[in-house]
Amino acid sequence: MENKSRRKFLQNTLTATAAITIGAPLLKTQNLFATEKVADFFQFVQIKLPYSYAALEPSIDALTMEIHYNKHHTAYIKNVNEAIVAEKINFNNEHDFFANVSKLSAKARNNGGGAYNHNFFWESMSPNAGKMPSGKLKKAIEASFGTFDKFKDTFSSAAATRFGSGWAWLIAADGKLKITSTPNQDNPLMDVAADKGIPLLALDVWEHAYYLKYQNRRTDYIANFWNVVNWEKVAERFGE
Ligand code: MN
Repeated sequence: MENKSRRKFLQNTLTATAAITIGAPLLKTQNLFATEKVADFFQFVQIKLPYSYAALEPSIDALTMEIHYNKHHTAYIKNVNEAIVAEKINFNNEHDFFANVSKLSAKARNNGGGAYNHNFFWESMSPNAGKMPSGKLKKAIEASFGTFDKFKDTFSSAAATRFGSGWAWLIAADGKLKITSTPNQDNPLMDVAADKGIPLLALDVWEHAYYLKYQNRRTDYIANFWNVVNWEKVAERFGE
């Protein structure tokens, strides 16, 4: 009898645990890169590039990729972690960091954004890409933008018209998909962002992202970006 009730208790506990796991909001917990804890607070971590520098040729050339990853991104990571230590910034994860970014220094905001955005950007691309989205994501894109081509046009235009340096984003917000752009290294997770939401896809339109190969032709860079979008990753971020 005692064994039986213990078994019953364990069974109930397991069911409860499973329910919590399944019920957890998927979108809130993904897109996190920084898991390394130094002392009691997190620091940003640069992900390993998921492909070689030359893998996205000819859309993105190897030299741009190498400088972008190895110099620009590495510097953002180093600088934000310096700011975290110097300013005793104490958050558990990137989402909390960005949700409070208006209270932080310009160094923390700019380099924190740069650290996260580039991790996100590398994973947004893949050498075995060029396919269309499918399934739930395709349906959501059509529901929000009409057709996939209209979505592409709107995103491309947001990227082309972002004045100066910044990013174009596809985000999930209020049960819909939206396109937005941010200046500098801001992102839609930041409390200062005009359009806040969960990032699904990003394009870096800083000149350092394309100037070596495309010079002033940002629109050519944007057009070729569609050849290397990792739709599987975007679908995964969407919760598929
Ligand atoms: Mn960049």
